[in-house]
Amino acid sequence: TELSKLILDRIRDVPDYPKPGVLFKDITPLLADHEAFSAVVEELARLCQGCDKVVGIEARGFILAAPVAFRAGAGFVPVRKKGKLPAETFEASYDLEYGSAVIEVHRDAFAPGDRVLIVDDVLATGGTARATIELVRGAGAEVVGAAVLMELAFLRGREKLDDVDLRSLVIV
Ligand code: 5GP
Repeated sequence: TELSKLILDRIRDVPDYPKPGVLFKDITPLLADHEAFSAVVEELARLCQGCDKVVGIEARGFILAAPVAFRAGAGFVPVRKKGKLPAETFEASYDLEYGSAVIEVHRDAFAPGDRVLIVDDVLATGGTARATIELVRGAGAEVVGAAVLMELAFLRGREKLDDVDLRSLVIV
């Protein structure tokens, strides 16, 4: 489609970042292009019809989720790496290739039953999105969907997210 072409043309492949053998998808050219960025925000905002909050995952998820929340008339909630949020939090941990990571959300970020759309830039192994879903549910909200700009299908992250409505604007 028109939108997927707009996106694919503006995501840059960076070899060997952050380490040798990884081909990193760099979204900064897309963010720098008003036409593409606004088309992406419009499309993601359509997925938050009637939702109460848009959750953004640190750090690139923030860049997308905040304008999506604004456009959809919803609130924005940050999910951050451990130690960054100032008030009382809930935590979720997930496995990385080496070791593990912990993410947090404020305990009072959601009203009971809030309908939530989770937004991030890239879905890779799905570990980050999986942990975010657990975090949001644990905080008393309802996950109505998860949305990413780009899904890296060969990493099969979608298989970890079979209990949510996952929308990817492009799948590579
Ligand atoms: P996962 O937990 O699915 O393996 O990794 C997804 C998380 O790592 C997302 O928060 C995403 O921002 C980041 N990530 C992993 N690979 C890439 C990539 O190639 N490009 C970008 N922009 N982010 C990535």
